[in-house]
Amino acid sequence: MAEKTHKFYELTIEERLKTLKKAGDLNAEEIAALSGAAGLTPAQADHMIENVVGTFALPLGIAQHFLVNGREVLVPMAMEEPSVVAAASFMAKLARAGGGFTASADAPEMIGQIQILDIDDLDAAAERLESAAGGLLALAEKADSLLVKLGGGPREIVVRKIKESPIGPFLVLHLIMDVRDAMGANAINTALEQMTPTVERISGGRALLRILSNLADRRLVKASCAIPVKALAFNDFSGEDVRDRIIEAWAFGQADPYRAATHNKGIMNGVDAVVLATGNDWRAVEAGAHAYAAVNGRYTSLSRWSKGPDGELVGELEMPMAVGLVGGATKVHPGAAAAVKLMGVKTAAELAQVIVSVGLAQNLGALRALATEGIQRGHMALHARQVAIAAGAPEKWVAPIAEQMVKEKSIRVERALEILEEWRTR
Ligand code: NAD
Repeated sequence: MAEKTHKFYELTIEERLKTLKKAGDLNAEEIAALSGAAGLTPAQADHMIENVVGTFALPLGIAQHFLVNGREVLVPMAMEEPSVVAAASFMAKLARAGGGFTASADAPEMIGQIQILDIDDLDAAAERLESAAGGLLALAEKADSLLVKLGGGPREIVVRKIKESPIGPFLVLHLIMDVRDAMGANAINTALEQMTPTVERISGGRALLRILSNLADRRLVKASCAIPVKALAFNDFSGEDVRDRIIEAWAFGQADPYRAATHNKGIMNGVDAVVLATGNDWRAVEAGAHAYAAVNGRYTSLSRWSKGPDGELVGELEMPMAVGLVGGATKVHPGAAAAVKLMGVKTAAELAQVIVSVGLAQNLGALRALATEGIQRGHMALHARQVAIAAGAPEKWVAPIAEQMVKEKSIRVERALEILEEWRTR
């Protein structure tokens, strides 16, 4: 497999699918679901959301070379932006020089919140709720006995006092629940509803919102890599120079929220593409990521880059990762189910570890390009193809017109139209 996947990008779509079939032990339906030949039908979609008229496709690419905790992983990425899949694959290859990515995950604990209003004495009500924690957890347990059987279920009650708000003080009760291989929103929301009448009785207050928090900071996932400087050298850049430039570029995002937003967007290019390909809720992951980036009161970079003891480049990314292998669209969407099978992940934690590794790889790709030759060179070549397509170029001319525009350093639809006109009449 190793030899073939190294040249994956040179294969035709058919050949790539054949490689996947073998590598991921996929059957004909699963291959058809990944290729778009079959997959989610409008009838299935009609059961998922409202007012369905059809389905909406995006390109699906497979990132290569990922080694996560010593395991080879083929990574499905649903993505409309050029360069992302190529950058992820290239950076995963670089990371292999240092043994690939090492990743770990917290227990899959999600947080549910109950907002409790109309309380005169916050301290006394909070104390009553805290001493009733055992009974409240037992109530929450009843909401999902399957989860408890699987080793998950309610773990802890935390009571928080919001002393100042536009409507005055109120209490918030947090239910911490281990949701195993689910994303957990429905599981948590159901448990919260089950607890509400008792919470109202004990607190003497009025429960308003009962909903999951997307700031899943009890479900953090960490990925790291350590790349020997030798592997970082390219063109006229020495490995030391590339490493130091990457650290300098990271420091910009660490210190400045304007840069941090774009730095983290680069991370999310990788994260979202896998979250989407596996049928998970990417808004939940986005919300969690950006809230976590500001958790200390100032929005900052989610990752960290530094020089290791042997001069190597060390990258670390830690972020909440609320993704599941059951629930939501994960099992319903045939493409998502095939994507999960291809990755060979058996638990939500394993999936989350791969996703955060891809986020770190993507971050490295952006920093390396930005801090050395700039991203436009590579990016514009791919962008030029989209411009050629937008100008209506027939398939056989897309690549040559793109090349011509890159050569002329004029990547515009008007220029693509002119070239098209010239070539049609020659
Ligand atoms: P779910 O309720 O569909 O499935 C989870 C349930 O599956 C568990 O409660 C359990 O009973 C069962 N289960 C079977 N095997 C399991 C296993 N191995 N591990 C864990 N549970 C197992 O899904 P969910 O994950 O609770 O909810 C996810 C959905 O909720 C997503 O579609 C999301 O978009 C949506 N949602 C999100 C938010 C939010 O993010 N704020 C709010 C509401 C709903």
